[in-house]
Amino acid sequence: MSRTLLEHINPGVEALSPYEPGKPVEELERELGITDIVKLASNENPLGASPSARRVLTEWRGDLGRYPDGNGHALKTRLAAIHDIEPGRITLGNGSNDVLDLVARVFLGPGRAALFARHAFAVYPIVTLAADADPREAPALAPDHPEMPYGHDLAAMAEALDDAVRVVFLATPNNPTGTWLEPAAIEAFLERVPDDVVVVLDEAYREYLDPARRPDSRAWLERHDNLIVTRTFSKIYGLAGLRVGYALSSPALADRLNRVRQPFNVNLLGQACALAALDDDDFVAESAATNAEQRDLLARELAARGLPALPSQANFLTFACGREGAPLYRALLREGVIVRPLAGYGLPEHLRVTVGTEAENRRFLAALDAVTGA
Ligand SMILES: *Cc1c(COP(=O)(O)O)cnc(C)c1O
Repeated sequence: MSRTLLEHINPGVEALSPYEPGKPVEELERELGITDIVKLASNENPLGASPSARRVLTEWRGDLGRYPDGNGHALKTRLAAIHDIEPGRITLGNGSNDVLDLVARVFLGPGRAALFARHAFAVYPIVTLAADADPREAPALAPDHPEMPYGHDLAAMAEALDDAVRVVFLATPNNPTGTWLEPAAIEAFLERVPDDVVVVLDEAYREYLDPARRPDSRAWLERHDNLIVTRTFSKIYGLAGLRVGYALSSPALADRLNRVRQPFNVNLLGQACALAALDDDDFVAESAATNAEQRDLLARELAARGLPALPSQANFLTFACGREGAPLYRALLREGVIVRPLAGYGLPEHLRVTVGTEAENRRFLAALDAVTGA
């Protein structure tokens, strides 16, 4: 291959480390030759997909030979009603990751920067580098912070703003820490960020927050034209495999995001199932309640083993191993339990475990005891 060919690759792409997904069950099955594997590595809903969405699939009589509605009319109309917002302020994505990428393509480029907290979601630097912009990390709260160890430090983020920063990514609750931001603190931050800088509020885990802690992000959109709120069907709605997410924003930003969006980015079945899942209130409530109960239980069990978890309002726990996490991760794999190592997130001595069903959590704890000799 010509050397100059590779020299012409965008520097951002050369600097980019690819996203490392949780290990797929099938892959571990092939490696170990066993079948009863428990995957608690990608924050999926352990109850599976919304039953309403599953029903849509089993009763599907549509024509897969046709393109989907490129404007996602039915899904957007329902989202608009639920959020009391004009459909023109919604941008649908192939998962909310797609929307994050759209934001980067619209606002970032060489000489520009995106700002996010240390230990924030790995997709932020990826979309930033893919747009050939500069990923900038603000320091996180200290490991011994009394309330929110490793959480987003909004004061440090505000300090880090300069003329190059065009986009700020905030996740609440954040992945992989599980930490969250108090609504009043986000509001104060929005007041402080210049109105020509985009703030993306990534609410992938919003439905897992205690209702009293959920930010009134919808209302903030009326005061901040630079705010983009992202949501997903991958977590509590249980549709990670179908890839549907969306953004709410001002009409002008939705217009620009939609200009660069691929015309058929959300597939036919994704749109139909997301629409059904949206009204599956019972499933969402059951998922949130099961998660809260099992998360508390798991946190107590981890603490009892000297593996304290960070405070979490999400559907996962990140716990301190007191030593390198990677060997423990590999030992758990050999027991058929997949969790997530976090060295790539600057947390080499932590592991992240998704809150599973009670049975899955017991399997995880038993595997943990087996590999630590407890
Ligand atoms: C899982 C997750 C998402 C959602 O990604 P999708 O592309 O919608 O599946 C977004 N942000 C964070 C922080 C996440 O952890």
